Amino acid sequence: MKLSIVVPCFNEEDCLPVLHERLTAAARGVAADDYEIVLVNDGSRDKTWPIMRALADRDPHLVAVNLSRNHGHQLALTAGLDLCIGDTVLIIDADLQDPPELLGPMLEAMQREEADVVYGVRQSRKGETAFKRATAHGFYRLLSRATDVDIPLDAGDFRLMSRRALDVLLAMPEQARFIRGMVAWIGFRQVPFLYDRDERLAGETKYPLSKMLRFALDALTGFSSAPLKLASHAGLALSIGSLLIVLYILYAWIAGHSIPGWTSLMLVVVVLGAVQMFVLALMGEYIGRLYNEAKGRPLYIVQEIAGAERRSSGLGQ
Ligand code: UDP
Ligand code: MG
Repeated sequence: MKLSIVVPCFNEEDCLPVLHERLTAAARGVAADDYEIVLVNDGSRDKTWPIMRALADRDPHLVAVNLSRNHGHQLALTAGLDLCIGDTVLIIDADLQDPPELLGPMLEAMQREEADVVYGVRQSRKGETAFKRATAHGFYRLLSRATDVDIPLDAGDFRLMSRRALDVLLAMPEQARFIRGMVAWIGFRQVPFLYDRDERLAGETKYPLSKMLRFALDALTGFSSAPLKLASHAGLALSIGSLLIVLYILYAWIAGHSIPGWTSLMLVVVVLGAVQMFVLALMGEYIGRLYNEAKGRPLYIVQEIAGAERRSSGLGQ
C-alpha cells in the first residue's frame, strides 16, 4: 500500500519542522518506506515556502507544491489531492491540531470496517475560543438541517480516504469546494473516528471571521437549495395571502366602505404583487435546477457490480 499525506499550509513556518517530524514518524509506523508527504504552500507571506523547499531537498519522501497565490484552504487541499499518487490518502492540517499519531488506529479502522473513508470527529476542541466553538457547533447543526446529504456533525477535513473515493472526489469539477460535504456526498462506506482536537502548535488560526463566513456560505449553497426554496415558498404563501386581500377589497367595495378609486388601485397593487411573487418563485425553481446542472457532478457512483465478469466490456459509469 502506498500512503499519501496531504497538508495545505498557509503561513505555517513555525509548524513545518515539527509537522514534518511527526508525519514522518507516523507514516513510517504504518507504511515503512512506501509513503509520500505532499505539502502545499497556499501563497504564504512568511517563510513557509523556503522552509518547505529546504525540507523537500533533504527528504525524498516529501513533495512541496507552491501555489501562485492564496487560493484558500479547500483549493490548496484540492491541489495536493490532485497531485498525490497514494492508494490511501490522509488529509491533515499543518497546525497539528489533528494528531498524526492517529494514522495507525485510523488505518486499522479502515481495514477492520472495510471502509473507503474514515473521518475524524472532534469530541473536544482545545485552545479554541468559545466563539469559534459555538459558531462551529451551530454551523454543523444548521447545515445538517438544511442539506439533503448527510454531512457528519463536527467532522473537519482530517480523514483517511481510499483511492477509489478520492478519484470520485476529484471528478467533481465544482469551483466552490466544501470538501467534507463532497466526500459525504460520494457515499461508499464511511466511518467516524472520535478524537480530541489539540491546540494549534504555533501561530494563529488562518480562518478569520470573513473566511469562516465564506466557507459556511459555500457549504450551504453547495449542498442545499433551502435558501432558494425559502424564496419560492414565501412567494407562494404571499400569492395565496394576496388572494385573501383581494376578497376583502371586493367585500369592502360591495359593502360600500371604500372611497372611490381605492378598490381599483388596491386590486392592481395586490394582483401585480402576487403575479411577481409567483414568477419569482418559478424562476427560483429554474435557477436551482440550473445551479445543480452547473455543478457537473457525476450522476451516480457505482460501488460494485456482481456478475460484471460475464459481460465483455463497456461497463463503468
Ligand atoms: N489554510 C490554507 N489556506 C488558507 C487558510 C488556511 O491552506 O487560506 C490551511 C492552514 O495552513 C491549515 C489548515 O488550512 O493547515 C486549517 O487552517 P487553520 O488551522 O488555521 O483553521 P482552524 O483549525 O483554526 O479552523
Ligand atoms: Mg487549525
